[in-house]
Amino acid sequence: MSTELQNSSTPPLPSSFWSALESVPGGSAFPTIWRQHLASDLETFQSLFLRSRPDLPAAAVPCPWNCGCSHKVVPRGNGTLAGICQCNPPHCGEYTVLPEELIPWELDWTKIPRVLCAAFDLQPKTVKLGLYNTLQIGNWSPDAVPAILTLARLSLLDPGIGNLPGGTARILRNSGFLEG
Ligand SMILES: [Zn+2]
Ligand SMILES: [Zn+2]
Repeated sequence: MSTELQNSSTPPLPSSFWSALESVPGGSAFPTIWRQHLASDLETFQSLFLRSRPDLPAAAVPCPWNCGCSHKVVPRGNGTLAGICQCNPPHCGEYTVLPEELIPWELDWTKIPRVLCAAFDLQPKTVKLGLYNTLQIGNWSPDAVPAILTLARLSLLDPGIGNLPGGTARILRNSGFLEG
């Protein structure tokens, strides 16, 4: 049995949101990487799903041009930061790294259930299931079917999903598709 989730009252989340939620390893990345997935949606996505970790500044940043290395960050005499390509031979010229590029942004698991419950009209109920990046975020009426959000690769999850109680629903990528 499968049923499309009704979310007519709110616009569906952009597909870039789902791919970003699923594609960033460990759910933590620098703004350069999030922007590659989200482009102009980055600011909205940050406010809905992410929190910054200024306590974990990096010594190297992802290359904005994807040259294959992380650019080493070196302070210049004038107080700005230089990002230096570590490829051999170097691909990119030195560029100026903005301080915010050094700050990783990670998935904020306190925000995510709230946003998705509003988007899919779920009754909020958060339950940790002991599976990687997997959480019950709410119940889907009228039968209070648990809605499970999973952001890990399905191959990692299949054994665990098999152990979930009968009638469990999970929200799958892209569509808000619900599978009984
Ligand atoms: Zn580069
Ligand atoms: Zn490089």
